[in-house]
Amino acid sequence: MTISIAIDGPAGAGKSTIAKMLAKKLNYTYLDSGAMYRAVTLCALDKDINLANKEKLSELVKLLKIDVEYKNNEFKIYADKDDITNKIRSDEVDKNVSTIAQIKIIRDELVEKQRKIAQEKNIVMDGRDIGTRVLPNADYKFYITASVQERAIRRYKDIIKRDEESDKAFKEVKQEIDRRDKIDSNREHSPLKKAEDAIEIDTTDLTKKEVLTKILHIIKKGE
Ligand code: C5P
Repeated sequence: MTISIAIDGPAGAGKSTIAKMLAKKLNYTYLDSGAMYRAVTLCALDKDINLANKEKLSELVKLLKIDVEYKNNEFKIYADKDDITNKIRSDEVDKNVSTIAQIKIIRDELVEKQRKIAQEKNIVMDGRDIGTRVLPNADYKFYITASVQERAIRRYKDIIKRDEESDKAFKEVKQEIDRRDKIDSNREHSPLKKAEDAIEIDTTDLTKKEVLTKILHIIKKGE
């Protein structure tokens, strides 16, 4: 039996940063489940598939070979052997990923892959439905949040760090986060919501290290 830790929460709450720190500390593997939805979105956009065409999209998700890798604390994702780790962070993907993630057949395919990966190794997995659907029996579940303002600040800093010349306005980043959260929380299939048995951590006024310490403390106590 492998051990699994589920980390869910809205966009920009710091889930992936915390999940990676935790995976490193515990020597577990890490899976960014959002990257898989982004991979499907990127490929659909590249192939000019109409995002309302569920048949075409379901065909795509069934044929697409998504591979993930977690080595030296770095997460990478491949689509048909092509490294798309950086490409999935584009504006275009940001804007369209929540639309794609609403489609049941896409979710079903990706959830199956995610469960398989979790069976192989001890894992920290982050996303929106990990504690509620992907790994309902996870050993630990955390729901990480922060105010919209704080999440937008973090996301904005990330964008500037990646591309100093980005002309993206802060207001736009905040609106985009807000819009994505609304779609993710209100969709029919596996909406973003705290699992009943998840521990909620509001990270608005906490540093990454403080969040990690809190989680490690909870995990130790549970042993
Ligand atoms: O985590 P990230 O922000 O990269 O996720 C991108 C999008 O993928 C989310 O806004 C959501 O629409 C979708 N997603 C999901 N279920 C997951 C992970 C991500 O629906 N487990």
